[in-house]
Amino acid sequence: MNDLGKAGLYRDLGYAPPYERLDAALADAGLSTLRKQRIAEAKKAAVREALEARFLRVCSRGECVRLAPSDSSGREQVLSVSQETCEMCGGSVNLAAVEEMVAAFASAGLQRLCVVGGSPVTRGELERLAAGRLELRLIDGQKSRTRRQAEDDTAWADRIVIWGGTQLGHQVSEHYGGPKVVQMHGRGVASLAREATRSLRRGKS
Ligand SMILES: [Zn+2]
Repeated sequence: MNDLGKAGLYRDLGYAPPYERLDAALADAGLSTLRKQRIAEAKKAAVREALEARFLRVCSRGECVRLAPSDSSGREQVLSVSQETCEMCGGSVNLAAVEEMVAAFASAGLQRLCVVGGSPVTRGELERLAAGRLELRLIDGQKSRTRRQAEDDTAWADRIVIWGGTQLGHQVSEHYGGPKVVQMHGRGVASLAREATRSLRRGKS
């Protein structure tokens, strides 16, 4: 069984030092102890999940630092190693993925994207990047949505992305189904855009 240095793993996952709070979080999650410097590679996914549930990675850009507290998931803010791993801006990675998605919508002759779930910050980021090029309907996954409203969204949209994770209630997501629906589980704007692009290229409609 391979093991990894914890500091290297944190860096791979996008976290910049210091790592005391991350070490404490892994100990709390029962994944490691404070004294251990190394961790089994097989625990990597569980470590990622435990850290992402507790911390919000934010790069040092003033705009990201300023906006971060409005993420309503209640996570503690920590420094990301780069803009790409910043959960606020995702840097050029988010932009490139959204560009690709916009192009995929255009070549499919479609333009209406409905997103259900995600945090207010990630929805805002998507809106900023895609504004004026796609018609967007962004649904707060924590507010109630009636079946009738969901049917209206489904009739309106060309694609509906169900943005799974902590900010989506089942009483909301269960209203959505059918061939336009794309389920996704990643957190960032880039993974949302990639999932939507993939579904458009598969030619599902
Ligand atoms: Zn950032």
